[in-house]
Amino acid sequence: MLSYRILDDRHPRVAIKVKELERIFGPIFPELDEVTLRIRMKKLRSAVAMYDHRSLRIDIDPRPFDPDKNGLLPSVIAHETMHAVQYIDRRIPHGERSCDIFMLARLPTNLYPKQRDFYVSVPQSVLSSSPERIRETAAKALELRRKGLRNYIVWFEAELKKSATV
Ligand SMILES: [Zn+2]
Repeated sequence: MLSYRILDDRHPRVAIKVKELERIFGPIFPELDEVTLRIRMKKLRSAVAMYDHRSLRIDIDPRPFDPDKNGLLPSVIAHETMHAVQYIDRRIPHGERSCDIFMLARLPTNLYPKQRDFYVSVPQSVLSSSPERIRETAAKALELRRKGLRNYIVWFEAELKKSATV
């Protein structure tokens, strides 16, 4: 199973939440079976989190997550974990936007954030009222990609935009 090793004990509340996610994320990131990702809590300037593939390490800025009033931590950790998969499984395209679509297709919707914070455009109304539609649309976009659709990200965004106006 995937595991997270917390390198820093100064933010125990965030650390506990990350360890809880480990149990849920193991089965949804099978590519990372037996992989240990190191988690370093660190003040960051340009992002709330980042992944370094050379050291298999996720840096998280603990400040926005303690407290985490919009429930962002699970999707942020899932996004960074997805970056690790991008490096391990070469069939998965690189890039922030692909990372989000693959992440949204895998993350259980009860762990979606309350406020959108993605590289892909997702209508807030859909996120609030029917997150399941986002997950299904992401999965469908990946299926279309497998069948040869090149601009599956554009398709995903357009599809959700349609749901927002219905
Ligand atoms: Zn990223």
